Amino acid sequence: MSELDDTGFATRAIRVGHRRTAEAEHSEPIFATSSYVFASAAEAAARFAGDDAGNIYSRFTNPTVRVFEERLAALEGGEACVATASGMSAVLAVCLGLLRNGERILSSHSLFGSTTMLFTKYLARLGIATDYVPLADLDAWAAAMTPQTRLLYLETPSNPLTEMADIAALADLAHAHDCLLVVDNCFCTPALQRPLALGADLVIHSATKYLDGQGRCVGGAVVGDRQRVGEEVFGVLRTAGPSMSPFNAWVFLKGLETLALRMDAHSRAAAALADWLHEQPEVTRVYYPGRPEHPQHHLVGSQQRSGGGIVSFEVAGGRAAAWRLIDATRLISITANLGDVKTTITHPATTTHGRLSAEERAAAGISEGLIRIAVGLEDLVDIQADLVRGLAAG
Ligand SMILES: *Cc1c(COP(=O)(O)O)cnc(C)c1O
Repeated sequence: MSELDDTGFATRAIRVGHRRTAEAEHSEPIFATSSYVFASAAEAAARFAGDDAGNIYSRFTNPTVRVFEERLAALEGGEACVATASGMSAVLAVCLGLLRNGERILSSHSLFGSTTMLFTKYLARLGIATDYVPLADLDAWAAAMTPQTRLLYLETPSNPLTEMADIAALADLAHAHDCLLVVDNCFCTPALQRPLALGADLVIHSATKYLDGQGRCVGGAVVGDRQRVGEEVFGVLRTAGPSMSPFNAWVFLKGLETLALRMDAHSRAAAALADWLHEQPEVTRVYYPGRPEHPQHHLVGSQQRSGGGIVSFEVAGGRAAAWRLIDATRLISITANLGDVKTTITHPATTTHGRLSAEERAAAGISEGLIRIAVGLEDLVDIQADLVRGLAAG
């Protein structure tokens, strides 16, 4: 990085990592090559021995992927970044790289569904158990610590209820017990929230969401220090191979270039939509960090720069009313994805949280009348008009 070290967020998002080749290209090239040529047998031996830092094989060394890694590390304020094939393989690489049989994860209840599945089904089989606590309840986190706990894991704000955890307080708790704090920063991205600066040890991304920003590619990343991420998580990637393709890395690079602009625009639109939903008589409750009645509203402005792009709300009339509203939309896409310029709408109780039992859903606060909107960048009046039709249908 060097001369870009002291530059602003947008500058780093646009400039970090690219080393122009002899072709003097202006835009970052896509290195579509699986392997690299060595000048001699001795050079090949030195590369494999780790004495020479050049490229070896694209499972773990690719110049386009490296630009993405360096740029995201610069934006999150981490020493090292490992790009992965998906957000889920980023979670897996962290757990395989840093945990041993007999150690425990302490996690928020409010997690992306596949992360819960990975912890409770697959990691449990390897002897790594997970304890769950309510995301925003600091006392519950403290009470659930055990001598075997090694890693605290959370997403903030949560999906779909937008609850927030106090990252700095949980980092203190983790470090007092010699544990690591891992934050999935998918919803805010470094444009709105930098967990490492608040004391977290590792950041996980599903690049599929806002880092891409236009719903094109699946990918993920882990950011943190040189030892844990640069050596241990990288070791899992190098050996097990859930690697990001150079084409996807290039798409994510282009996404990073407009990340700050997009996150501000998503947040502005979501805040306006949340205020508008709050005024609709058919809407019984709005969940949005930027709303003054949100229980952790005080963290907006300090921990995360703005409310973000996700708004959830409840309609009277349960599942039937929620489905009628969703089915009355013509512009908004009915899909579980988020972080796209296209606005998306979801019924969590029967999709993202459909694998939970009715009791588990109730405990998580996911009611049958709950609807989640990932607010895109269309004109807000058109999004509202699409919802008006649905609200009238309810
Ligand atoms: C989508 C998502 C993931 C998983 O990422 P994939 O790229 O789909 O594998 C993890 N965490 C959060 C919060 C997500 O939204």
